[in-house]
Amino acid sequence: MNAQNEPAVAGRIPHVVVIGGGIGGILAGIKLKEKGYSFTILEKAGALGGTWRDNTYPGVACDDPAHLYVYSFEPNPDWKSVFAAGKDILNYYQRAADKYGITPHVRFHSHVVAAEWRDDHWNLELEDGSRLRADIVVSAVGRLHHPSLPEIPGMETFERPLFHSARWDHGVDVRNKRIGVIGTGSSATQITAAVSKTAARLLLFQRTPQWVLTVPNDPVPAWFRFMLKYVPFVGKWYYRRLKKQVGDAAKALLAGDREAYDARIRACLEEVRDPALRAKLTPSYAPGCKRLCNSPDFYKAIQRPNVELVTEGIERIAPTGIVTSDGKLHELDALVLATGFKTHAFLRPMKLTGKDGVTLDSLWADGFVNYRTVALPHMPNFFMVNGPYSPSSSGSIVPIIEIDMAYIMQCIERIRVDRVALAPSYARSVAWLEGVRKRASKTVWATGGCSSWYLDKQGVPVNYPAARDEFALELDQPNYADFEVFPLDGSATVATGMSQLRARPMVEP
Ligand code: NAP
Repeated sequence: MNAQNEPAVAGRIPHVVVIGGGIGGILAGIKLKEKGYSFTILEKAGALGGTWRDNTYPGVACDDPAHLYVYSFEPNPDWKSVFAAGKDILNYYQRAADKYGITPHVRFHSHVVAAEWRDDHWNLELEDGSRLRADIVVSAVGRLHHPSLPEIPGMETFERPLFHSARWDHGVDVRNKRIGVIGTGSSATQITAAVSKTAARLLLFQRTPQWVLTVPNDPVPAWFRFMLKYVPFVGKWYYRRLKKQVGDAAKALLAGDREAYDARIRACLEEVRDPALRAKLTPSYAPGCKRLCNSPDFYKAIQRPNVELVTEGIERIAPTGIVTSDGKLHELDALVLATGFKTHAFLRPMKLTGKDGVTLDSLWADGFVNYRTVALPHMPNFFMVNGPYSPSSSGSIVPIIEIDMAYIMQCIERIRVDRVALAPSYARSVAWLEGVRKRASKTVWATGGCSSWYLDKQGVPVNYPAARDEFALELDQPNYADFEVFPLDGSATVATGMSQLRARPMVEP
């Protein structure tokens, strides 16, 4: 039976549709399966893995510690270095999906274009025209998903390969060629470090310099891997230690000793020997204002004789290269756009229509409105993983997603047990948001003197303004007083206490 034919309600067990099969979607599947829910994951591509499936550029890696970039309940004691390569991370998550029996629940090539709330369920429409029902929807669509393409005059005239970093064209052999890279974010720094090893020339077109941390990617010694694998509690201890270290760094960034924080990052630039090059690479804004790049090799790469940092503005793209504002044509054999993502798309371009015909477009007409990052007013039984105002700069996103899912599972349990629909109240959402935005506008992301993908049109970061611990506390338990609760089957039970809820097992009626 495929997902389309599955009944939306199997007895009293709600059917949950998860949108997206990345780290968040796989986790949602694991948690739903653990509790015995009926669920389907809709994945628009042909494989799981989200960002790690899409980003295959040379040098792709995760600059957060590998041992923290895993589900807390599924450690990987076999990571061979402090930071893991993209393909190894992809393997880890695809393996986890298989191990926990999630892959058979995935419907691939299923691109959701619209979802509409109809009295007591969601009606989802896919790109191929098919429809399916869901009692509950969990969106795990990711934030760094839709490539952002620059609007540079003449781009369409370029006669050689041109592609975005997240759509790497592996048919193009970059060895011994002249490669242009536009952008200086985390993707560009990793590409520069890798491609410059074999390219004839690499030209990095920098509009704004980035602060780069150069934590070395040390190997994990065999004896430590052995301990992580076989000695009880070592793995848990190491995970907690990394979580604390990364949490402390986020606290330092947001509320700590800025002097020490800045000094540590500024010191990394000393590796650049030529003062003129160092000056070009030195940002004028505060460290941490844009998301920090962490690359052990970028400064080494930029000093290679075959690498040139181009700081003149890009005027236009010509058939054979890039023309900068000084009139110079930089001839290229291929051009990489490491120009980031449409980070304010979130659920869009999906059309969402909730209770009483309220649409996401109208709800978000003047900016994001949501509740504690995970729920949307007027959208009953609809939840988000890594939604607007999530802690995007607190180290590994995986512990954040786990916090989201733990909260969402409590809501789902409430929905199941009481047969209700839950949507956060608009007023409570706005009140929560006002507090978050007020604090966010005082963080270094807003005051540090840069522009970045964190900021909305008003210049307010769409980020949680505190470190992960505070976020975890806030999402520890749903406060149902902040929700509108509608009975789904005429039953009047809309105010079940959590203790009563916990005592009721999941049974078919
Ligand atoms: P990004 O940080 O948004 O950087 C985009 C770069 O492109 C910036 O340097 C930007 O310059 C430049 N750019 C954009 N439009 C341009 C134009 N028209 N002309 C010239 N330059 C232009 O994108 P990203 O590097 O892909 O990284 C996005 C996020 O993905 C990161 O912040 C991070 O969260 C995540 N990521 C993580 C890892 C990891 O290892 N964990 C690796 C890669 C990416 P301006 O600064 O002047 O705007």
